[in-house]
Amino acid sequence: IEQSAYQNDKLAMLGKIAAAIAHEIRNPLTSIRGFIQLLLPELTRVGKEEYARIVIEEIDRANHIIYEFLNSSKPSTPDKQQVKLDHLLAEVRLLFESEAIMKGCDIELAHISPALVVCVDVKQMKQVLLNIIRNSLEAISGVARKERGMIRITAAEHHAEVIICIQDNGPGMDYHTQSKLFDPFFTTKLEGTGLGLAVSYRIIRNHGGHIRVDSEVGQGTRFKITLPLC
Ligand code: ADP
Ligand code: MG
Repeated sequence: IEQSAYQNDKLAMLGKIAAAIAHEIRNPLTSIRGFIQLLLPELTRVGKEEYARIVIEEIDRANHIIYEFLNSSKPSTPDKQQVKLDHLLAEVRLLFESEAIMKGCDIELAHISPALVVCVDVKQMKQVLLNIIRNSLEAISGVARKERGMIRITAAEHHAEVIICIQDNGPGMDYHTQSKLFDPFFTTKLEGTGLGLAVSYRIIRNHGGHIRVDSEVGQGTRFKITLPLC
């Protein structure tokens, strides 16, 4: 399932608008956050620290959304460097360690050949992997289930390309969702932005790679990222 040039333009345009307004919104948010923190001792004394916590949480959520929008406006040429794929994946996996335990989900990283080296913008590539793994975790914890949640990450070389697979045993997706999931703003979540995969798609394309999805309702989902070997 391919994303059209039109959708890509839409994302680039959105990015420009977002960049223009984002920092105007960020500055006041930062001062609101700072002042609430200053008020925290007073609020705690009168037993209202819960309100402060909610305000801070909501500001962080707003900031997160702005951050995602901003990322869709990043220049299209990645700042590439050679990295060992096993290290990169291990680092990303570590970021989810505590969250996975909390959600009763195993994130399994297969043995990856230390010889696999990719030329990537590390920040962008991490963002892609975080977006995909976060979606899997959200999919797994969003439904009642019998078996334990499992996300499996593998990577291998194939015809001068590197293929990274991220597979989960979540609820999977119907065809409609699969055909839309790389569209900017497409989301099935109450609080989703619908930007994670649109941005990921663009990043991978800018690296000369591909991203594809394979999913079946009730079975799970597999994302397959193909990147040129270094
Ligand atoms: P968001 O997470 O904000 O909804 P994304 O672009 O990250 O936006 O994902 C778009 C949609 O794709 C999600 O709302 C969800 O419906 C679907 N999706 C993505 N990954 C998975 C997955 N692993 N399992 C099931 N559905 C998924
Ligand atoms: Mg997402």
